[in-house]
Amino acid sequence: MKYDVVVIGGGHNGLVASCYLALHGLKVGLFESNSFLGGMASTPSLWSGFRVPVGAYVLSIFRSEIARDLGLFERGLKLIPKDPGMTIFLGRGRVLSSWSSLDKTVKEIEKISDRDARSYVEWSKLWGFIADILDYLYLNPPLNLSEVLDLASRALRLASHVRIGGFIEDIPRILISPASRILNEFFESEEVKALLVEDAVVGELVAPSSIGSSLVLVHHYMGNITGVRGQWAYVAGGMGRLSEIIADRCRELGVDIHLNSRVEEIIVKNGRVLGVKVNGRIVESRFIISTIDARVALLKLVKWDEAELDKTIVRKLRSLKSIGASSKIIVATRSLPKLRREYEEFTDRIYRSSALTIDSVEYVENAYREAIVKGISSKPWISINTQSYLDPTVAPEGWHLISLFIQYTRYDEPSGWSEESRRRLIDYTFNVLGEYFEDFSVKAEKLLVLTPKDYEVMFNAPGGHIFHLSMNLDQVWAYRPILELSKYRTPIRGLYLGGSSSHPGGGVTGAPGYLSARSLLEDLGILKPRRVSLPSLILGFLKRRFRF
Ligand SMILES: Cc1cc2nc3c(=O)[nH]c(=O)nc-3n(C[C@H](O)[C@H](O)[C@H](O)COP(=O)(O)OP(=O)(O)OC[C@H]3O[C@@H](n4cnc5c(N)ncnc54)[C@H](O)[C@@H]3O)c2cc1C
Repeated sequence: MKYDVVVIGGGHNGLVASCYLALHGLKVGLFESNSFLGGMASTPSLWSGFRVPVGAYVLSIFRSEIARDLGLFERGLKLIPKDPGMTIFLGRGRVLSSWSSLDKTVKEIEKISDRDARSYVEWSKLWGFIADILDYLYLNPPLNLSEVLDLASRALRLASHVRIGGFIEDIPRILISPASRILNEFFESEEVKALLVEDAVVGELVAPSSIGSSLVLVHHYMGNITGVRGQWAYVAGGMGRLSEIIADRCRELGVDIHLNSRVEEIIVKNGRVLGVKVNGRIVESRFIISTIDARVALLKLVKWDEAELDKTIVRKLRSLKSIGASSKIIVATRSLPKLRREYEEFTDRIYRSSALTIDSVEYVENAYREAIVKGISSKPWISINTQSYLDPTVAPEGWHLISLFIQYTRYDEPSGWSEESRRRLIDYTFNVLGEYFEDFSVKAEKLLVLTPKDYEVMFNAPGGHIFHLSMNLDQVWAYRPILELSKYRTPIRGLYLGGSSSHPGGGVTGAPGYLSARSLLEDLGILKPRRVSLPSLILGFLKRRFRF
């Protein structure tokens, strides 16, 4: 077997990269170790007739430009937006929801605080403004510090003429602040802060009071794949359909997709890649794009001492952080769990949205503190997502499928995730759910528990982090995975990185896959290099704002 490019990993980023390369005439072979595609965004039929969302369960931050380029909607991608997007249980039969319509959310908040209702409009404008800038930057290689400073100083000068210089200058403070500080700045009521806090901590071992949690918040707010900023949707037929549709496009373009094919080695000679070793066989290729964890690719698959990888790179890679914080329990029930009497009137909106067991920012802080000490929060926050309520195709007739996303559950839980600690996780989860539902545990006929340890094994992602590497301030943008590797190229000629451990990071965005393929196509002279410049940034922003 011989390819122009071997792509390692059949997650959605590997598939996106393969598609772009094949669109430009390269012969691509994609190798995936599992028997299914989609990686952390897959829905394999682990139970007959069910599409089990082992990882990602909702879509928002996938780049619409990529969906358009690859013709995904024309090929059957269908989204089912959640509306309300989120509903939180506030105790004593009260709930609060965020809706697609700003007016509707504002009206709901008015019942709690007039001031917060007005602030919510300001809040949405602020994050919408930042997201409109980031949209453009997420589809370009990360800027390094001198580029950022240069761009920022010119943008500030320009902004001062239109009198928004102060506002622009404040954005870095907002992005590095703890989310709890920004929430306190905007809102007075605990209920509204509780409604907005999940985005700042989801997937990460951080508290709302941790520095940089606002950056996590904006990463989760900046989606627009449904056409509505910040709205999340189910992929009809299950999250894995997205990857299957991209895979169909890949096959149309001549990509060979190999399942059950674990790459054991990236073969390097005289500083350049020659191919990979898969299931004991050599596959030759001129180029390789790895979409798996950068440390696995460079420190395990490459014989780095023989490849003479720079010692600084090795040292920095080894110090990267990826302590997974999230687990899932996936539950199949024959009928929906019944809400306790005081919440019964909200049944429909709870099952339509992501229902969250967060009644205050303090609740999340406490859960975090306990997990830091004990490994698992005994009162975790849980996001309850019942796709089958809106999309019956994900479960056989007569069944429902409920995804419980649970935090905090540390990868390095002291017992190493023994049977006893897994049992404890189930008990803690059902205890919390018992505050809102009458019979959740009784109704759960099938149950699958996945901890960060399981994600590590299932997807070869050390630490079992849902974004491969944590998205802390020191591991984003030009520092992702590390400065020397942040532009998708590596010191090994022909080897590129293009998964979640590259900018703009984790989540189902498709962006790292796209950007890595672009980098290779630019190096081959097939595409013209693009540079982020102030005019292009402003144009990108205006396009987003005014939808032209
Ligand atoms: C529990 C959980 C919930 C999440 N929820 C959401 C959500 O709702 N929305 C959202 O946007 N994001 C969510 N995420 C994050 C998102 O799913 C991931 O960040 C994203 O899917 C990663 O995509 P990727 O292609 O970069 O990597 P992966 O999906 O990890 O793909 C890499 C692939 O490479 C394969 N592989 C590894 N080593 C080898 C090898 N040696 N040879 C061949 N193949 C190999 C793996 O099996 C895997 O299929 C969630 C993740 C998890 C785990």
